[in-house]
Amino acid sequence: MEAFADEGINEIAAMCSAQSAKTLTILCCLMWAICEDPGPILWVTSDKQEAVKLVKGRIIPMMERCDPVWKRIPKERGKFNTLEIYFPGAPLIITGAKSPASLQSTPFRYILLDEVRSYPPGALEMVEKRTRSFPHNYKKIIISTPDMENDALHAAFMKGDQRHFLAQLPCGHEQELDWKDKNDKGGLKWDSIRNEHGRDLDKIKTTVRYQCEECGAVQAPTLLTRKFISSHGRWEKRNPNAPSNCASFTWGALLPWWTDWGAQVVEYLSALQRLDWGDHEPLKSFTNETQGRVWTDLLRYLKHDKYLRARELDFDTRGKWPLEQKRFATIDVQAAGGRHYYLVIRAWGTGGVSRLLHVEKIGPGVESYANVLLTCEAWGVAKQDIIFDVGTFQSELFQQIMEAGSLPNGDYAMKAMWGDDRPYFLVNGQRHLWTVAPTDPYLGRKGQGFVRPINVILWSKPSLQDRLAFFMHGLGETDWRIPPWIDNDYRKQVTAWDRREFTDNYGRRRTEWYCPKGRPDHYYSCELMQVVAASARGLLSTPREGGPLFEHAAQLVETTDV
Ligand SMILES: [Zn+2]
Repeated sequence: MEAFADEGINEIAAMCSAQSAKTLTILCCLMWAICEDPGPILWVTSDKQEAVKLVKGRIIPMMERCDPVWKRIPKERGKFNTLEIYFPGAPLIITGAKSPASLQSTPFRYILLDEVRSYPPGALEMVEKRTRSFPHNYKKIIISTPDMENDALHAAFMKGDQRHFLAQLPCGHEQELDWKDKNDKGGLKWDSIRNEHGRDLDKIKTTVRYQCEECGAVQAPTLLTRKFISSHGRWEKRNPNAPSNCASFTWGALLPWWTDWGAQVVEYLSALQRLDWGDHEPLKSFTNETQGRVWTDLLRYLKHDKYLRARELDFDTRGKWPLEQKRFATIDVQAAGGRHYYLVIRAWGTGGVSRLLHVEKIGPGVESYANVLLTCEAWGVAKQDIIFDVGTFQSELFQQIMEAGSLPNGDYAMKAMWGDDRPYFLVNGQRHLWTVAPTDPYLGRKGQGFVRPINVILWSKPSLQDRLAFFMHGLGETDWRIPPWIDNDYRKQVTAWDRREFTDNYGRRRTEWYCPKGRPDHYYSCELMQVVAASARGLLSTPREGGPLFEHAAQLVETTDV
């Protein structure tokens, strides 16, 4: 509101969480403009129905309570209509972004834009031209919860001086309120409490507190503390290159004192669980509505390449790891330059904890396949935990799986996996990251129908890529590790895939996983299959016992098993 009254500022963009008194802020600016600095005013909301609701529910009641404005209400017939109120020197028009005619009509000095993300495409650009008659003293204010990166709101925020609120905590330190990583000092913290049904959300809610990133002091969310935090602090400008007449602001739902931190934690944990089922919407909604950030903030985070460093841990790959439940060998087969194999051996505990033990490119050469099996044996991988990607050389691999023998129950010991582009598989009406497809190893050839089928594990590539990204970035409560001495070949391949944006057939901006053509990603495939294997063995759906840091990693990864 100070920026609104500042003569040097023409454009204000605020990108913030839901329940942040957005409409109230614009209302206050409106009342101020009518009395203190009148000019033609246009208020744009999503559609006409919304506009009528806004006038009757918010604008008129506010005017009734604001004496200076009420005195200026026009008494003449025809000057006080629902969507057009002619104040002296300040005609006020309220309209919906879906009514293009009204957006193109008269010039306005004030343009107030509410919830721009529900505007139809192009409406914002059109309405922005309406201030041309007031080049020096126009005022445009956009305030909305964000949506996608580079959309109109985000662009307006980026163009401005990008002010973030540095809240002062009761300990005296200033910082932007943030969720932060679980293992970092500072940010929102909570205890992971479980009962026999899984996460005990009611109990978790009561443990939520805020930790100072400077001194580590912990603040319980009492009303007094919350009010202190939201009323002490200052705005920090982070864009020195902004035009001097453009101010922009951003904040999340941790800041306003009337929001519930506990409810936000519950929303976050539930969103992570939904992600496990291949459903991104709750996490996107959490990012936009609660964190007040564009959805691709997370995806941009995925693009910097230092993240793998943070997963390094100096452990003894040959030593005994008390948390280990299973170790898997996953193998990607390649032909170029002679048959060779990319092998990853990784140990897993329950609840998403994992350590990389060995990676190796084996071959080419006639002994390559035998060497793969010998290496697995040397590392103590049981035959039933050796897994081949059968996306290529299928009949050859099927033959090898049949020759490697069976378990006492008659199933083949070694496993076959196949990545699929579907986002999930419906099993008994529920979404799963993978499914089992019994496949005749002799399909279409002599011998078809005479041998036991191979249970090929079909897995959803995009969903597993999301999951592996969470492991590789240490998000949620995972603990996925690599030894620091791991070679560059591995590092390059496991970071080969990235998220990128594209526009779908409906004109919506979406993101997809993308790997530059020709960039090798064999170890990446092996790591994806490791996550599938851990999920298939139930290791991701069982909480880890007794560990102080990650005892409840299963919160991230519950209930994926068929
Ligand atoms: Zn402090």
